[in-house]
Amino acid sequence: MRRYLIAGNWKMNRTSNEAIELTKSIILRTKGIDNVDIVICPPFTALTAVYSIIKDSNIQLGAQNMFYEDEGAYTGEISGRFLKNIGCEYVIIGHSERRKYFYENDTNVNRKIKKALELDLIPIVCVGETLEEREKGETDKVVKKEIVGALQDQADKEQIIFAYEPIWAIGTGKTAQPEDANKIHELIRNTVKTEFGMDEQTVRILYGGSVKPSNVEELMSQNDIDGSLVGGASLNAENFAEIIKTTAKLA
Ligand code: PEP
Repeated sequence: MRRYLIAGNWKMNRTSNEAIELTKSIILRTKGIDNVDIVICPPFTALTAVYSIIKDSNIQLGAQNMFYEDEGAYTGEISGRFLKNIGCEYVIIGHSERRKYFYENDTNVNRKIKKALELDLIPIVCVGETLEEREKGETDKVVKKEIVGALQDQADKEQIIFAYEPIWAIGTGKTAQPEDANKIHELIRNTVKTEFGMDEQTVRILYGGSVKPSNVEELMSQNDIDGSLVGGASLNAENFAEIIKTTAKLA
């Protein structure tokens, strides 16, 4: 039985003080929920402050990105080793915003995953198609390529969590039809099985793209959807807690 995971991606939002306020409010509203995994991913500058208040709670810490070297002359980068050292257990890798604005590709996404696994940080690896690719009927091809790129030559594949995030649904208010999203999750399971011999039934695959309290139940009720990566709605404690509670009821 796969355990649900709900991760909040705060993107470039909230100062350290603002992050503390938001976190406190999430803690209060989700107290006692222990049948799903809850992760919050604040900006780097708020990680330490947030960790200090969640460390004894049911909420775990994640970062939004990392570099694949441990240290050195890489101005402006943050290594996975630094993240591990301040309490991160998860790291989002290959988010579409990083692929789009910071030119990340399957090659450096693969290296980041490898380093994360080496450090015992759980990578949440994002894949998904643009609207243009969807309209050209290329969704399956794009998702498969990103999955294969991520998994190539990885030692500890079973630790990887995937997030299917159709790019046209991120921050737009548009959500994939639950059945359509589920089909892509099935495709991901088939790919990890046929291309890498993995046990496809144990891989956790989140859905992301305008998840909110009003659509979470239908999405999470799909057989192959194991949780959500939540952007906008995770910045509102009430909405994020509602998403978590609804998911916990289905668990
Ligand atoms: C995301 O940032 O991964 C995301 C899915 O954002 P939103 O929920 O705002 O669409």
